[in-house]
This record gives sequence, C-alpha cells and structure tokens, in this order.
Amino acid sequence: AKQSGRANFHIYTPELEQQANQAHQLELRMRRALKNGGFKLLYQPVIDIKSGRLAGAEALLRLEDNDDEPIGPNSFIPIAESAGLIGQLGEWVAVEACRQQEEWMRQGLKVTMAINVSPLQLRQPAFAEKLGRIITDLGADPSYLELEVTESAIMENLNEAIEILKKIKSLGVKVALDDFGVGYSSLSSLTNLPLDKLKVDQSFVQHIERDQASRAVTEAILALGHSLKLDVHGEGIESENALLYLEEHGCNQAQGYWFSRPLPPNEFVRWYHEQWEA
Ligand code: C2E
Ligand code: CA
Ligand code: CA
Ligand code: CA
Repeated sequence: AKQSGRANFHIYTPELEQQANQAHQLELRMRRALKNGGFKLLYQPVIDIKSGRLAGAEALLRLEDNDDEPIGPNSFIPIAESAGLIGQLGEWVAVEACRQQEEWMRQGLKVTMAINVSPLQLRQPAFAEKLGRIITDLGADPSYLELEVTESAIMENLNEAIEILKKIKSLGVKVALDDFGVGYSSLSSLTNLPLDKLKVDQSFVQHIERDQASRAVTEAILALGHSLKLDVHGEGIESENALLYLEEHGCNQAQGYWFSRPLPPNEFVRWYHEQWEA
C-alpha cells in the first residue's frame, strides 16, 4: 500500500512542478544573460524578389549562455513576458539591432533591419520615445529600421495600437504586420493602421506547393496588401517552387531557408559577399 501511494504521488504532481521549475530556471538564466551578454541576435536575409538583391535582415533572438545548442525565442519569450523581463529584453534587442544596422551602414552594407516586438513591449508606456532615444544614441538610420508587430498585439486595442504605431512612424521607422492571416484582424481595421508591409504567415507559404487552400489564402493576402499599397513579404520559403510561385503572384520580398538560415553577423556579411560580389 505504501508503495502504490508513492507511485500515485509521482503520477499526479511531477509534470506541472517540473514545468514550473524549468520556467524558473530559464528565468534565472535570462536574468543572468541580460547582465552577462548571454543573448545573441542572428540575422536572416530578406530578398527583394524583383531585383533578386538583398533588401534587409530580420533580427532573431537566441539565448546562448553556454556551450549547448542555443535556445530559440519560442521557448523563452513567453517566460520573459510572464516574469516581467520582456521590457528589458526587448530593449536589449533594439539596442543591439540598431548598433548592428549602424555598423553595417558604415561598411556600405545597406540592410533594412527588422526587429520583432512583443505585444506587451509595444504597449509599454513610452515605448516609442525609448525607441527614438535608442536610434539617436546609436546613430542608426530610422528609414532602414522596421518593427514587426503581430495581429494579436494590435487587435486587442485597435485605437491604442493606431496611436502607438503613428508615434513609431513619426520616428521614420517602418512597420510590418507579422504572421498575417492566422490572427483575427477584421479586414476593415487594416485600412486604419499605418502599416508598410504584410508578412504572410509561413504556414501558408510552406504549403503552397501541396495545398490549394494555402495558395488561395496567399493570393488573397497579396491582393489585399497591394490594394492597400502595402508591400507583401513571403517568409518560410524552403523551395524554389515556393519562390517562383510568390514571384509569379507579385510578392515583393522573400525570406526563408531556401536563401539562408538566420546567421551570426560575420556569417551574414560573408554570405552577402558570396552571393553578390563573387
Ligand atoms: P517570426 O517572427 O515569424 O520569425 C520567423 C521564424 O521562422 C524564425 O524562428 C526563423 O528562424 C524561422 N524561419 C525562417 N525561415 C524559415 C524557413 O524557411 N522554414 C522554417 N520552418 N522556419 C523558418 P525563430 O528564430 O525560432 O523565432 C520564432 C519566433 O520568435 C519569431 O517568429 C518571433 O515571433 C519570435 N522572436 C524572434 N526574435 C524575437 C525578438 O527579438 N523579440 C521578440 N519579442 N520575439 C522574437
Ligand atoms: Ca518576425
Ligand atoms: Ca512571421
Ligand atoms: Ca511567429
């Protein structure tokens, strides 16, 4: 009887406890990493489809505080949000991405730097003011910066979001709506948002070749975006066929493993030179 009691104990508690414990460990690691430089940004090339040239880079965050495989943002961003760390972390990302953009510009590498912003971060008071100060302090060129925001960030409070986005735009920074097509934006609200770009969610792009419904959604987003005078950007492109399809349907920009995985800065520069200055 004693034994089965212990067995039950193990069956009922460990999973949740383990999860909470893991989250706590990750929170501690993140706090340390913010102090000790344990976060890194990788950069994934963005291609202008018409010219075939490099258009920009998306900065993608990694936790790389030891010799193990780096940890991706899907595992730690939610924890950073619930632990109240997202403001500080987002600020680190903005500073590092602006610093890198300014350095590349000085070296003659003109890349529009796309920065992901968490909904919580976007809605912090004085977000735009802080961003403006970072841009000025680092001497970054705001016309070569782009913020990627998600539908859920915007639709929770549309009027508030419009005000925030207007402030961001007044800095001269561009705004892209990320993961478009999977959220819940009403189409009419799109016309009120000061956007520059729609990024088609990669779940559609990845199924373009096999799935008629994904092609239909992608084409609808392209038509919608273009009628609103927005650039449309396809991400998650893993094959030449997907790229050709998007090209044929007037997609403006492309990103995905077909071109390159996200790269550390030195490899990004090397990749650039290999592609265009052989
Ligand atoms: P996202 O903004 O949609 O970024 C694209 C994700 O798709 C990246 O994953 C990228 O590595 C991956 N990807 C790119 N090309 C391909 C492809 O051809 N095939 C496939 N299967 N995947 C591809 P990653 O780096 O793991 O980032 C995941 C998400 O984490 C991002 O999705 C973004 O929402 C968030 N994130 C990344 N960096 C930051 C950051 O600095 N701040 C915040 N708040 N969120 C971030
Ligand atoms: Ca993004
Ligand atoms: Ca996306
Ligand atoms: Ca995403």
